[in-house]
This record gives sequence, C-alpha cells and structure tokens, in this order.
Amino acid sequence: MKIKKLIIGNWKMYPASLKDAKAKFTAIKKVAGKLANVQTVICPPLVYVSEIKKFVSGRRIVVGAQNAWFETEGAFTGEVSIAMLASVGAEYVIVGHSERRAIGESDELINKKVLAGVKAGMTIVLCVGERERDPDGVYLKFITEQIKEALHGVQKKELKKIVIAYEPIWAIGKNAIHPASPDDALEVSILIKRTLADLYGKDGSVIQVLYGGSVDSKNAWEFILKSQVNGLLVGRASLDPKIFGEILKSADTIK
Ligand code: PEP
Repeated sequence: MKIKKLIIGNWKMYPASLKDAKAKFTAIKKVAGKLANVQTVICPPLVYVSEIKKFVSGRRIVVGAQNAWFETEGAFTGEVSIAMLASVGAEYVIVGHSERRAIGESDELINKKVLAGVKAGMTIVLCVGERERDPDGVYLKFITEQIKEALHGVQKKELKKIVIAYEPIWAIGKNAIHPASPDDALEVSILIKRTLADLYGKDGSVIQVLYGGSVDSKNAWEFILKSQVNGLLVGRASLDPKIFGEILKSADTIK
C-alpha cells in the first residue's frame, strides 16, 4: 500500500481567538480534503482541539496536539493528559519539540510521554534536533542519543504509532540562523533510519521520518524529494492557509 505524505501543521500559540482558528482550519480543509496522497494533521493550541475536531469530516485532515502530560489523571495543576486529548479526538501528539525542551523537558520526561502516547493509541510525533552543528559531527551522536532515550521501552509492535521529525533548532522559527538545506536534512534522515535499524532491525522502517524548520511553499518539494523524508512538520507557514495549501499541493504531486 502506498504511504501518503504526512504534513503536520504546528500552530504553536496562534491564533489568538477560536474564531480565527476555525476560519484557518476550514480554509486548509478545503484544500487538504481534495488531496488523496497527503495526510494532513493540524495541531492547534490545546484549548482549541475539541472545537476544531468538530470540523473534521473524513480522514484526509485530522487534529493533533502540541504537547500533553504523561499521567492519565491526577494532581497536575494546569496539565492536560494524553488520554484526555485522545478522548476528545486528537490523533497525534507532538512530543519533545525544541521549544518545550528549552523550558526544561528532559529526555526522561519525553520518554514517559512517548510511552503514555503509545498506550493511549495516539500517534507520537517525536521531535529531535541539534542546537548547532560542529565540524566534528558531535551533533550526530547527540541526535542518536535523543532517539534512543525517547524510544526506550517502546516495543516493535508499537512502532507504527511513532513518527520522528528532524528539526534542527538553528533552522526553526523566526530566529532561524539560516534555513537547512535538503542535504542537511538528508544526512540526518539517513542517520535516523540507521539508528532505528540498529534498535529494531527491519521493523524500524515503519517509522516515518519528517523534516521541519523554515519550510515554505517554495522549498517544501525539495525537502520531500531530496531529503528522503516522508513529510514535513511546518510551523509558521501552517498558519497561512494559502501558503500551507501550496505546501500540501506540492506534497500531493510527489510520487
Ligand atoms: C516548528 O517550530 O516546529 C517549526 C518547524 O517552525 P517553523 O516552520 O516556523 O520554522
């Protein structure tokens, strides 16, 4: 069976009103709903998830979350659990985004979230990536360790519920130093696949690998074609339905 390209929009803490979120989702759905070769996922702020979910019809565009807590319920003021998100219809959850690691999320906590997500039947979008590149290639070891620690305890039969997004921190967001090149992404997509093969043998190949960092409507096709990834994690550009629609359409045309 042909695997669809997976394009995930991470809306971060935008937009400021539910009304705008609904309007953006509806506009994106108009395009995504027509594309047979793309699985679109929108990850709005947590508070909008269940409202946006009401606009989902069919499978071509679904809803995910940007973060969640690993315990099912309990005295965790201000937190929302993965199980709760699953119960309101979120199907994906981003774990280990660099903006969360930057505010203190450890590899250990990320591993707990991965395990809880798998248990709740969610698809986990595990983000990995280095802060900077060094000429000796220490960053490659760093990424390998991030993957090993995050997947500790994940069983072979659970691997189809894991997606790994390579997001070099230096190439993400409006403070990006410079965009990554498709070759930069290719190097790490190969590393990720090799690490998965070391951990799980050929079963590791069911894990989809994505690229994320300053993707826009002009470079999306290049990353997909040249970096041997199965899709993209898109931040800023996913908030503009016109630009995101172009990204989705270009992914749909790549065989
Ligand atoms: C992200 O934060 O996940 C991301 C990829 O951001 P951007 O596309 O804006 O660089």
